[in-house]
Amino acid sequence: MFSDNGIIKKAQEAKDTWENAIQKENNELKELENEMNSHIWTQNGNKVTCSHCGLNYEIAKSTINYIAKLPQNNVKLLSDKSGYIENQTFLPEQDIIWVVLGISDEDKDGINESLLITTREPVNNVIFYGATGYLYGVDEINRICKELYSNDESVARSITIEDINNTLNYVPEGGVYTEDGAITWKTTGNFTTKVKTLNIWDNIKSSGTKTPDGINTEDALGEYELNGYSYGIKDEYLVSRSNPTDIRYPTTKIKNELELILGPQKNFEYWVASNGFYIAYNQLSFGISNVGKGWIANCGDLFSSVGNEQQIEGKLRPVVALKKVP
Ligand SMILES: [Zn+2]
Repeated sequence: MFSDNGIIKKAQEAKDTWENAIQKENNELKELENEMNSHIWTQNGNKVTCSHCGLNYEIAKSTINYIAKLPQNNVKLLSDKSGYIENQTFLPEQDIIWVVLGISDEDKDGINESLLITTREPVNNVIFYGATGYLYGVDEINRICKELYSNDESVARSITIEDINNTLNYVPEGGVYTEDGAITWKTTGNFTTKVKTLNIWDNIKSSGTKTPDGINTEDALGEYELNGYSYGIKDEYLVSRSNPTDIRYPTTKIKNELELILGPQKNFEYWVASNGFYIAYNQLSFGISNVGKGWIANCGDLFSSVGNEQQIEGKLRPVVALKKVP
């Protein structure tokens, strides 16, 4: 009997190869199309421009007609993730105005394809307490922003300390600490100096060796890398606590940006999705980064190495990275 198995097999193979080739071509076309449709943003001072289509905006000034999608379910923050005694429930705020914050390379391919926007004012109100707040807070504020302020095309998150530093063109010097209570401040000049290598370590460990994760040993506490810093406006400059006579960052050209970040009367108080800690009064103090009273602080006071816990209330500052501008 005549066997056509071979022929059928060959035909099938040819078909598979053909389909794979088409599939591959389709993928490449789609990729090319994405690339051609996506914006290529560049920033010059407070202006951002797309070299593809010529769209242009002014950071901290231009408003964007972004509409978040209403969440399906109640957005909650449970007590065991905030440290606060009660569960918290959030609704999206209405009539939000979105403003251009900057540009970003979300897919890390070397091209700034996204326009970053944020709310003109902080929104909602979130309470964290103690070690629990320190441990889960950053993830939780990102999640709450995502659930409240995303839509089908874009995902919201919280503002980060890098977003703020980028917007203000500020480069922090390093982790800060004080050896005289809180009179004069020093910087490590980096963010990788372990607490146990500082001169003040002896004083810190003799005051207490509590860590927010509950390990609570001298070894564990000594391993933390000091990363906290804070800066604000003094005279016409942005200065850090450890370097109050710094004149590298004049504020004259970033008035709008400063108002967006700090508030028109330096009245904004909101959480920033980064963890930070610093040393004062012979304690290592742990917390979530924040903006308040005119200061940008990559450190916080939720928990300290003597075991003190604090309750802090602040708003949220959602950020959305837009690939398409509505
Ligand atoms: Zn464009």
